[in-house]
Amino acid sequence: MEKTIPVDSCQYFNEAMETMTRAEIEALQLQRLQATVEHCMQSPFYKKRFEENGLKPSDIKTLDDLRKIPFTTKQDLRDTYPFGIASTPLRNCVRLHSSSGTTGNPTVILHTQKDLDEWANQVARNLWMVGLRPDDVFQNSSGYGMFTGGLGFQYGAERLGMLTVPAAAGNSLRQIKFITDFGTTALHAVPSYVTRLYEVMKDNGVDPRKDTKLKVLAIGAEPHSEEQRKRIEDMMGVKAYNSFGMSEMCGPGVGFECKEQNGLHFWEDYYIVEIVNPETLEPVPDGEIGELVLTTLCREAMPLLRYRTRDLTRVLGRNCPCGRNHVRIDRMRGRSDDMIVLRGVNIFPIQIEKILMQFPELASNYLITLTTDEDNDNMTVEVELEELFTDDYHRLLELEHNIRRALKDEILLTPHIKLVPKGSLPVSEGKAVRVVDKRKVYQ
Ligand code: ADP
Ligand code: ZN
Repeated sequence: MEKTIPVDSCQYFNEAMETMTRAEIEALQLQRLQATVEHCMQSPFYKKRFEENGLKPSDIKTLDDLRKIPFTTKQDLRDTYPFGIASTPLRNCVRLHSSSGTTGNPTVILHTQKDLDEWANQVARNLWMVGLRPDDVFQNSSGYGMFTGGLGFQYGAERLGMLTVPAAAGNSLRQIKFITDFGTTALHAVPSYVTRLYEVMKDNGVDPRKDTKLKVLAIGAEPHSEEQRKRIEDMMGVKAYNSFGMSEMCGPGVGFECKEQNGLHFWEDYYIVEIVNPETLEPVPDGEIGELVLTTLCREAMPLLRYRTRDLTRVLGRNCPCGRNHVRIDRMRGRSDDMIVLRGVNIFPIQIEKILMQFPELASNYLITLTTDEDNDNMTVEVELEELFTDDYHRLLELEHNIRRALKDEILLTPHIKLVPKGSLPVSEGKAVRVVDKRKVYQ
């Protein structure tokens, strides 16, 4: 029997939605924003917020009126834990996800069946955009469970009609066996895991170009540099597309690169995208880095208005040679809370990664450690060597020197460099841990 794509999802592969003009996008957004704000009055949290600010849903007459609405923060989600921000009674919700919550209450995200359907459509749209079709075999190496990368990609890939393999995280040998035995053509993985998988392939005599049918990688969930992407593409011999998502916005599917690979298309029929200065909270002009703020437009259980993601990025453009006019967003620099402040200098781990990846002698795994030595704060960058040449002391010293100099040019500080054998730094199953802060905190 022919595999058929579910009828209700066909419209999401319809070019009309993706290639709307800016005017059409904005008209649709206003209509959906008004409906969302109206719906938010079912949420005890938003109802109170609106009343406290003397706001009524009818005050939202234009898209610019969005700026009258106060921001929603992660703290608001924690304060209303577990269900206080929802706009739909619990009995209408069918799924709950939760993000890690390292400090204080975790955050809870609720979904109705309609939310889950829309989410699957969103993910399917992205996978379709990069050329995947029902004949493809999609393997998902995300952790399943509370982490949205698991079920999010599972349902999206199934919605598109692909044979979908819920391989889940870890167990690289099994992962590789599935890729070769099932003829996997598309793999979703965090970027740090792809490099690990490649190493295991190499150690086991598997050449991804010759021995697999892989043609597309979806990489995301953690910040990574353009240089890291290029490395991944060269290693695996396939295109790697950047995928952005966050639990509060549903999960994966919020933004994805098209075949042009010139930024992530953020889907403006689902979200209103703002970039604001994180201090003044005023909008920044296109091209300028600021904090990404998102408003959901299609969510039923838990719409969020002007949610401060803490991710730092910028608008690259509002059209694209691919024909889509949904805003193009630059790869994330990281979250504002990932920023390292060392001796008054602001540094993002991704800046360090970008430099390290330019040295072919270096492998992809690295770790930044911050310490206080005799009252001075210091940074040590440990990075794995692609091949061990410890016998060539002069070459090692020269390499260290060159890395130090290149890093100094980028981050304006001189870190200690430690070249370590491949495989000696820790690898995490989910998102990579890039920074360990052991500094003394002076009160
Ligand atoms: P948690 O908050 O527990 O990490 P999420 O999966 O909700 O769980 O994490 C979402 C965050 O992950 C985003 O806010 C962003 O910081 C990061 N992220 C997701 N996708 C990307 C990506 N493609 N590039 C960079 N960072 C990403
Ligand atoms: Zn495009």
